[in-house]
Amino acid sequence: MEDDKGCRGHVLLVPYPSQGHINPMLQFSKRLASKGLKATFATTVFIFNSMKADTSPLVGLDTISDGYDSGGFAEAESIHTYITRLEAAGSKTLSDLIVKYQSTDHPVDCIVYDSILPWALDVAKEFGLVGAPFFTQACAVNYIYYLVHHGHLRVPVESLPVCMPGLPPLELRDMPSFIYVAGSYPAYFEMVLHQFLNTDKADWVLVNTFYELEAEVVDTMSKLCPVSTIGPTIPSMYLDKRVEDDIEYGLNLFTLDKSTLITDWLRSKPPSSVVYVSFGSLSSLGRIQMEELAWGLKQSGFQFLWVVRASEEDKVPKHMLKLEADDGADHDEKSEKSLIVNWCPQLEVLSNEAIGCFFTHCGWNSTVEALSVGVPMVGMPQWTDQTTDAKLIQDVWEVGVRVRVDEDGVVRRGEIEGCIREVMDSERGKEMRRNARKWKALGREAMIEGGSSDKNIDAFVSKIKNRRA
Ligand code: UDP
Repeated sequence: MEDDKGCRGHVLLVPYPSQGHINPMLQFSKRLASKGLKATFATTVFIFNSMKADTSPLVGLDTISDGYDSGGFAEAESIHTYITRLEAAGSKTLSDLIVKYQSTDHPVDCIVYDSILPWALDVAKEFGLVGAPFFTQACAVNYIYYLVHHGHLRVPVESLPVCMPGLPPLELRDMPSFIYVAGSYPAYFEMVLHQFLNTDKADWVLVNTFYELEAEVVDTMSKLCPVSTIGPTIPSMYLDKRVEDDIEYGLNLFTLDKSTLITDWLRSKPPSSVVYVSFGSLSSLGRIQMEELAWGLKQSGFQFLWVVRASEEDKVPKHMLKLEADDGADHDEKSEKSLIVNWCPQLEVLSNEAIGCFFTHCGWNSTVEALSVGVPMVGMPQWTDQTTDAKLIQDVWEVGVRVRVDEDGVVRRGEIEGCIREVMDSERGKEMRRNARKWKALGREAMIEGGSSDKNIDAFVSKIKNRRA
């Protein structure tokens, strides 16, 4: 690596302040740093203070402000108020940060910003810097929002199924939920459409996927804006064990639970025998749904490792919490039990050979992580892009099944049990596992030297390095 002083190119990366947006951009920062750029990850003051992590040996950390330094998003009256203040305080403090680095050996060359913060591109351009939005979600989902933003797809949708180049025919329930449930979450809907407000001024459009996974839609979208696929954004140790300079460095906003307990517990299980269950960092299930899920898991007969965030814990049936955490049980009894934790190192868990399937809300990171380590899924999408991801998981990549929701909006225990059995223990499930392994291999190929994403990252890095040459 070049001397730390001088012109190796400095990229300032600005994530949206939530776990699912921080994770992929942080991994991308590490990639850039491992390829010789200086990478500084600038999250909000509140997130910076909440992070459960040591500083990274590869990536510098710095801060901007969202205007809620002491409480973050939870302090805001509404998402609309939050976004408005984030834009005002964020633009000002991002400018201050750029100015701060101007007087050092490492002036900033490029701003990579979460695509839902389009104002960051205006700041980059004010300073004459390279600007690149980072789209955290699937290219298919971005393409749908692009079409809506530009008036090529009307909402509410007028005729079904929706046919778009590069995508299978989509029924309403396969569309992102802001379209599927018309009028739901207007502020979020506006936020995802505004990703395209100024992309015509962007120098690069970075998308958190890999070409082979979404080739047709990437090709279609590339005709509209300069799309560069740069994923899967997971630590290289999970893709290619030969890369030694990568450590599993993450920024957790939740306290990791019983980490050694989880590893020890998994170690005692046969290969492909455990169902890993998680609904990510934000989704919240209703009380009845939680009860149905608990019983569905139990009735499936498989052991499970279930992440229930502390804020959701009171919805788990009491007898089950007690049962699963019963340390008083003797060894034989204990080995039959499942495990409920508040938060876990998800990638480490998913890549453990004891895991047979991932019962997931189909958040994009969770989806990409499961694909990257070759684990089939049961999809129970909740909102936003998860509904479209579930469609792709089931019908395009054929690595899982999607649960059926009852007319009253609840997924019943019998359905949950049936879907788990199908993935864990059927001929079709075996096929899904084979497909998942195929995607794992393709994801790895995209990221290793000369792969589709690696080449795109190299092109980006060399543009930044040569900027001051
Ligand atoms: N995650 C984790 N531990 C957990 C649950 C989730 O580290 O116990 C991570 C997971 O690996 C993923 C992120 O949290 O990177 C969740 O992102 P995703 O896009 O799947 O869902 P979101 O939280 O945005 O709904």
